[in-house]
Amino acid sequence: MIEQHSTAIGDGTRCVHAGRAGDGIGEPLHAGPVFAAAYHLGPPEAPTPVDFYGRSANPTWRALEAAIGELDGGHTVLFASGMAAVSATLRLLCRPGSAVVLPADGYYLARALATEELAPLGVQVREVPTAGPWPSSLFDGASLVLLETPSNPRLDVCDIAELADRAHAAGALLAVDNTTATPLGQRPLALGADLVVASDSKALSGHSDLVLGHVTSADPELAGRLATARNRGGAVPGPFETWLAHRGLGTLDLRLARQAENAAALATALGEHPGVLEVRWPGLPSDPSFELASRQMRRFGGVLSFELPSEAAVGRFLATSSLVASATSFGGLSSSLDRRARWGDLVGPGFVRMSAGCEDTADLLADVLKALDAAAG
Ligand SMILES: *Cc1c(COP(=O)(O)O)cnc(C)c1O
Repeated sequence: MIEQHSTAIGDGTRCVHAGRAGDGIGEPLHAGPVFAAAYHLGPPEAPTPVDFYGRSANPTWRALEAAIGELDGGHTVLFASGMAAVSATLRLLCRPGSAVVLPADGYYLARALATEELAPLGVQVREVPTAGPWPSSLFDGASLVLLETPSNPRLDVCDIAELADRAHAAGALLAVDNTTATPLGQRPLALGADLVVASDSKALSGHSDLVLGHVTSADPELAGRLATARNRGGAVPGPFETWLAHRGLGTLDLRLARQAENAAALATALGEHPGVLEVRWPGLPSDPSFELASRQMRRFGGVLSFELPSEAAVGRFLATSSLVASATSFGGLSSSLDRRARWGDLVGPGFVRMSAGCEDTADLLADVLKALDAAAG
């Protein structure tokens, strides 16, 4: 794996210290959240302080924005959810008469937002599968290209650097939904993307206990416009969720390491099991995404997908497993799986996205093998 972002310190150290300020004597080692709607302004002639009203800015956001911005390599603006981040980006950068290019196999609500709400305003919506092909005229007349790599839920991968060049040549900006990879798994800005959008409800915060999102841009002016859009949109993240996410971020390196170790063991075992139709994990050497993912990603993460023959087989799997929960979302401490046909994804009835958690590898493997045997029987 290549190191795209030369830095003297390692991922673990960066996660533990990112965005942590204030080492004055008597200050807390890790400050708590600041709960405030209004702040003291002082006399009328005093300049307005940075923090004056909780919807516009506050110290708890700033600390996490500094942390994620350091890991993404740009200027971060937090949003109340991943969808709020996607929505702000699309609404700011799509224009009537221009086109937006979206992954046909990407997060379903981003596509629904574009086709149901932006297309009626005159935005031309073009969808392309992440695995391609990417026709040469695809970006003509586009103002924004959104990639999702690895894509959710099928985990296909596309070439960020090549598509960024092509988008820029056509005059479009390129955004990457980096939710599945996280900033430790992939640094789209270093590969030429203009924006990273992400849901921090998943592995970045990592404890399945909050909903949050962010956008990071290399361009401070664009980040400023997104912060203005957040203030005008008005649906902002709360300080408590923000603080919890910052607390979770401290262990991202540790969690991802265990999750990837578990995903590697599971992907291999699933691939050898006769009851499994197909398994996808970008880190599996036989995976169609492996070569590109190895070049582009810094690590592979804990999300994999596989297909059982039927909905009933998934039911037997879940009834037998004692460690794998049936839940949507991914990236948390505990392993879970989600049968995607439930949500209308265009996949087989037994297709599941699985999130490998932080359990001991031997325990998880034994549990899943037992559940697979039950699913086959
Ligand atoms: C979950 C997810 C989103 C939406 O994020 P929320 O925090 O649930 O609003 C967007 N993109 C991808 C790839 C996701 O997995």
